[in-house]
This record gives sequence, C-alpha cells and structure tokens, in this order.
Amino acid sequence: MKDLIILGGGPAGLSAGIYAARYKLDTMLLEKEYFSGGQILNTWLVENYPGFKEIKGTKLAKRMEEQAKSFGLEIKQEVVKEVDLKGEEKIFKTADKVFKSKTAIIATGSNPRLLNIPGEKEYYGKGVSYCGTCDAPFYKDQEVAVVGGGNTAVDEALYLTKYASKVYLIHRRDELRADRILQDQAFENSKIELVWDTIPKEIDLSEGDKHILLHNKKTNEDKKLKVDGVFVFIGYNPNNQLFKDQIELNQAGFIRKQKLSSIETNLPGVFAAGDIMEKKLRQIVIAAGDGAQAAFEANEFITKTY
Ligand code: NAP
Repeated sequence: MKDLIILGGGPAGLSAGIYAARYKLDTMLLEKEYFSGGQILNTWLVENYPGFKEIKGTKLAKRMEEQAKSFGLEIKQEVVKEVDLKGEEKIFKTADKVFKSKTAIIATGSNPRLLNIPGEKEYYGKGVSYCGTCDAPFYKDQEVAVVGGGNTAVDEALYLTKYASKVYLIHRRDELRADRILQDQAFENSKIELVWDTIPKEIDLSEGDKHILLHNKKTNEDKKLKVDGVFVFIGYNPNNQLFKDQIELNQAGFIRKQKLSSIETNLPGVFAAGDIMEKKLRQIVIAAGDGAQAAFEANEFITKTY
C-alpha cells in the first residue's frame, strides 16, 4: 500500500512526484509510455517556462524526470487498464499487476483531436501526423499543410519551416487563436502561407496525386492543394477513459474543479493535475503548478486521515 499513486508522467505528474517525494510520501508514478514527459515530448522548443529562455521539450522532460528520481520518486512504465478510486483504497490494475494507494493524483493529460475526414486514418503515419517534432525532418524541401489556428498549430508550422520548403497554415476562420507573438512570427515567415476560412474535407496522399481537399466556407468552393504531408493540430481530447464513470467531469470530458481553493476531485483522496482538469489555459507551467498543489493536498489528506 503506497501513500500516493500518480497516474501519468507529463509535467503535472512529474511535478507532483517531485513535491510528493520531498514530503517523504511513499509515492509511485505510473506512466504508459517508455519515456516520461507527456505532450512536452512532442514540443520542439519551449520558450515560456520560467528559468529557460528556450529549451527543447525532450530536454525539459528529461530534466523533470531526473529531478523527481533524485528525490526518490519511483517511476514505473505500466499500462493501467482499470482503476477503482471510489473506496478508501485506490486501486490500479494492469494486465498482470495490482497497485494500491491511500491517495491518487490523476495527471493523464489529453490526446490530439482528429479531423475525422476521409484519408486521415488511412494515411496516419504515412503522411498524416500529429507531431511536428517527430516527423518534420521527413519533409525536407517538401510542401506540407498544417491544420489549426491555435498556439500548437502556429508553433508547429514555424518549426516545420526549418525543413519544409512551404507550409500552408489552414484555419477555419479569418483570425488565428494563437498568441499575438506567435502570430507575428508566422506572418513574417516567408515559407508560411495562411489559408483562411477553410476546412479540410479529404486527405489523399496516394503516390502521384498527393493532396488535401479544402473547402472555403466563404466562397463555398472546393479546391485541391498539392502537399506531401498533413499535420493536424486542432486541440486535444481529455484522457478520461479509465475513470469517466467514477470522477465528475464537465461537458467536454475534463475533470470538474469542485472548489476554487482545491484540486481535489469529487472523490476523497483523489486529486487532479494538468491538462485533464477543466481550465482556461493549458500550459506546462500551470501543469507543474497543479502537480505541486495536488501533492500538497495529498500530503495534507494523509496527515489528517491516517
Ligand atoms: P486550441 O487552442 O484549442 O486551438 C485549436 C485550434 O484548432 C483552433 O484554432 C480551432 O479553431 C481549430 N479547430 C478546432 N477544431 C477544428 C476542426 N474540427 N477543424 C478545423 N479546425 C479546428 O488548441 P492548441 O493550439 O492545441 O492549444 C491547446 C492549449 O495548449 C492552449 O491552451 C494553448 O495556449 C496551449 N499551448 C501553448 C503553447 C505556447 O504557449 N507556446 C504552445 C502550444 C499549446 P477556432 O480558433 O476557430 O476555434
């Protein structure tokens, strides 16, 4: 029986691990992937995490993991298949193991949202990608489309210009959602061409006729755009499958915040941190802050209850 089990090894989970280990809680972090870091592993360059003017996402993740381990956090690569968080004992089951704890921190983050158009699934990994950092080098001197208008889409479009000869940034409105500073960088980059008021209808990357079919919402016209690859960055869906019937969620599927001053879920001893929680701004620094608070609250819960 552990004091605390943290589910998810992104910045929220790792930060919770650092704080929990320093509170001397007997803590285990369960991460399904081989590497900790969550979505920062897919981020080329982080420029807004205090203390680092710029740092590669992979490097920041590694540093967080090393820091957590140095304080004694136990990190296990395990695919959790089932949880029971309602009782006094928090139970986590994998295919062949059961882990138990007095408290839990849910830091499962979110996953890229899909366009759900013909060709997207068929060409996933063969021209359709949700990770510029992973796949940009395959598009040296080629033309690619980036779909989305938020910070991720613009960030990734900028990164793609390091390899691709041309990046079409396809957005469904006539104004980007991304921060002004990123917008300006995109507007000034001669390799980026904005395609406004446009939604993708189909992706076909078959040899000889590689293209994305676009629909302009204002003119009502469809047109084929020749591209070698399509990168989709249209937001994220919460990773709530394991506990959606146990923890109270909001309409969009994110864990509902019960109180202003706390990040405890509706279940006693179960806390949430990072992108899986309902919030307006999803940033690494906020995930890290949540992690610290969740560990603090878990420690307080244990002190009061046991
Ligand atoms: P986001 O802010 O939710 O933006 C999603 C974008 O995709 C929006 O422009 C949206 O259009 C568009 N979109 C959504 N569904 C679509 C669909 N079905 N078809 C076409 N377009 C669609 O998501 P994000 O950019 O991934 O960012 C997520 C969070 O991470 C945000 O809080 C963001 O600030 C943060 N983030 C920060 C940084 C940074 O600070 N450097 C970097 C990356 C991410 P509309 O605008 O019309 O809704």
